[in-house]
Amino acid sequence: MTRRPFIAALGATAAALATRARADEPSGKKLGWALVGLGSLSTNQIAPALAKCEHSKLAAIVTGTPAKAEKWKETYNIPDSHIYNYENFDNIASNPDVDVIYIVLPNSMHEEFTLRAAKAGKHVFCEKPMANNAEECRRMIAAVKQAGKQLGVAYRCQFEAHHRECIRIAREKVLGNIKHIEAGFGFKIGDPTQWRLRKKLAGGGALMDVGVYALQASRYLTGEEPFEISAQETKTDPVKFAEVDETIVWTMKFPSGITASLVTTYAFNGANDFTAFAENGMFGMKSAFGYDGQSGWTSNKDLKIAFPPSDHFVLEMDAFSAAILANKPFEPSGEDGLKDLLVIDAIYRSIREGKAIAPEKV
Ligand code: NAD
Repeated sequence: MTRRPFIAALGATAAALATRARADEPSGKKLGWALVGLGSLSTNQIAPALAKCEHSKLAAIVTGTPAKAEKWKETYNIPDSHIYNYENFDNIASNPDVDVIYIVLPNSMHEEFTLRAAKAGKHVFCEKPMANNAEECRRMIAAVKQAGKQLGVAYRCQFEAHHRECIRIAREKVLGNIKHIEAGFGFKIGDPTQWRLRKKLAGGGALMDVGVYALQASRYLTGEEPFEISAQETKTDPVKFAEVDETIVWTMKFPSGITASLVTTYAFNGANDFTAFAENGMFGMKSAFGYDGQSGWTSNKDLKIAFPPSDHFVLEMDAFSAAILANKPFEPSGEDGLKDLLVIDAIYRSIREGKAIAPEKV
């Protein structure tokens, strides 16, 4: 193969990968989704995305705030019979219009509502991080399995075309074996009273909220699980971050010999990227983990990573609905969420104990 057709073939494979989530979707039916928690993400990203989905639609809402129920009822034309609060939520079991329950609550509430949704006999789609710790993830996986339903974790980047192409370049060793990964995600957090700064509700700080994206990227690029973690935390504002982590840097070793060096923070803006250093070149993404603005690059001028923007929420929700309609297992599943929490638990342990830690196994 000459160089040009080879590059064209790479592009075609990339396009195929980028659309894989939608390729085998059954046509026609839309599954009904119930949103639990009508905060910022539900309001600004998820509900508008549901209106654009091919296989998913907004069917019901669950909220503790009557004023929000009124507003959503009008905006989305939701009947009273499809509006629940946190107390009567369990009645959703008898609502045939609800197939999937999407949990968009503070992290510590993911377990309770996943268990209740499973008991109601519904499929569960859960926001990241999946829970406050690995033990909670294990109970969530068991409950949904027992109900005979699917549990998906909302790792939207896994459906985004630039990320998928980077995964392909990594796994197909287009630039040779990866030797090292650098990744980071963080931002300067505002309001000191928000739940993200309360350990009980958030489970932790920047690492739980955004560091998990950088961790995910290093896991899905390598396709491996780290076996050794070393982490350090630093706090410049011990009042604001009295309960949760502000900035964490950590390293990971993977079985094939790949090393990774990561950072997460609530103290500054700008960290939002990854670089993979391979035997024959480098590739990576800038603006990697936000809702939009993704761009990819490589050190090889003939190997481009460039795709049109997409709505990650449409892609992930339709992929979950499609998997259910086709009776196929969905990835990323609860097990993927658990694997991240096992690493996160090890990171916090490494900080506490001041030494390298081997994460627990699934
Ligand atoms: P938010 O604060 O805007 O909304 C949280 C919702 O939970 C609100 O409607 C609030 O009323 C409700 N709630 C119920 N009990 C509460 C309590 N005790 N304390 C605080 N709020 C309570 O948060 P958000 O940004 O919508 O985040 C919700 C979930 O979505 C989190 O797990 C977060 O990690 C995740 N998230 C994911 C993404 C993504 O890109 N996938 C982006 C943002 C948030």
